[in-house]
Amino acid sequence: MLDLAADPVDLCAALVDVPSVSGSEGHLCDLVEQALRALPHLTVDRDGDALVARTSLGRGRRVLLAGHLDTVPIADNVPSTRDGDRLSGCGTSDMKAGDAVLLHLAATLPEPAVDVTYVLYDNEEVEAARNGLKRLVEHHRDWLDADLAVVMEPTSGQVEAGCQGTLRVDVAVPGKRAHSARSWLGENAIHAAAPLLVQLVRYEAREVDIDGCLYREGLNAVGVTGGVAGNVVPDLCTVTVNFRFAPDRTEEEALAHVREVLAPYDCVLTDSSPGALPGLTAPAAQHFVQAVGVTPQAKYGWTDVARFAALGIPALNYGPGDPGLAHKREEWVDVRRITEATALLRGYLS
Ligand SMILES: [Zn+2]
Repeated sequence: MLDLAADPVDLCAALVDVPSVSGSEGHLCDLVEQALRALPHLTVDRDGDALVARTSLGRGRRVLLAGHLDTVPIADNVPSTRDGDRLSGCGTSDMKAGDAVLLHLAATLPEPAVDVTYVLYDNEEVEAARNGLKRLVEHHRDWLDADLAVVMEPTSGQVEAGCQGTLRVDVAVPGKRAHSARSWLGENAIHAAAPLLVQLVRYEAREVDIDGCLYREGLNAVGVTGGVAGNVVPDLCTVTVNFRFAPDRTEEEALAHVREVLAPYDCVLTDSSPGALPGLTAPAAQHFVQAVGVTPQAKYGWTDVARFAALGIPALNYGPGDPGLAHKREEWVDVRRITEATALLRGYLS
């Protein structure tokens, strides 16, 4: 049985030692559920391999702490190993260090100053359709009620606010097939894509300040396909373009912008996720930032804070792991960050 009240560094090691690659979190989820259900001050609910544990103290405010239980595939890095302040292993930084802080607080704060909801979920590291938090939103929206959500993804102890949105379009550039020995009879689709690439090269990405956080957009070709054979003038070239957009644009506005920039080329949307506004003007978020004592920064990648923001819940990323080490074979976490995050959150919730 997991000892949630143990030193959170040891708890992190214990969590890493139970493999939980996306889609096989069941055993770890069982162990965490068993440990949470032993705590009389929490109500525990489960949906699939996602757990929601809540205090019900009738406090006026509720804070939600969230972490995913799954990891990317193991790369000869389980069980964990310890060398000084370095705890190595799959999922140490992303994000069992955050989970350990969250679970330790769940076990050792029977009477927090605010009501607290602890969420642990499955399948964050795979395609969005399988995401456990997405499923919780669809099945049990009421379990997630809160004034502030803190997603404990790795941020090296920084507060990262909101997140950028992302969309991808395929731009199909047509041509006319011909034998390359008689190329004047055809129209080369790859050549026809050149003006499109020039438009992308010349594009000046916007920078925008929202609630003191600087978001930097980017519009990039991320793939090109084209060509039929070594002696054929190609009749099709497809350029895949990714737009990372600041959260003051909706997905629809972002797509309209891409279409305008890439006109007259035809853009077919293949993938889209909204951004999340930083929400730092919300009193609950301001209180959190003061308690942690760091200046919030913009989050550039997409994270599950966007799911909370879409529910109207201000959401921040804050966690002890190092985002630069996530998903690496040599993934590790500085255990001092685990101790520090535990102390800061304990102070904030007490
Ligand atoms: Zn993660």
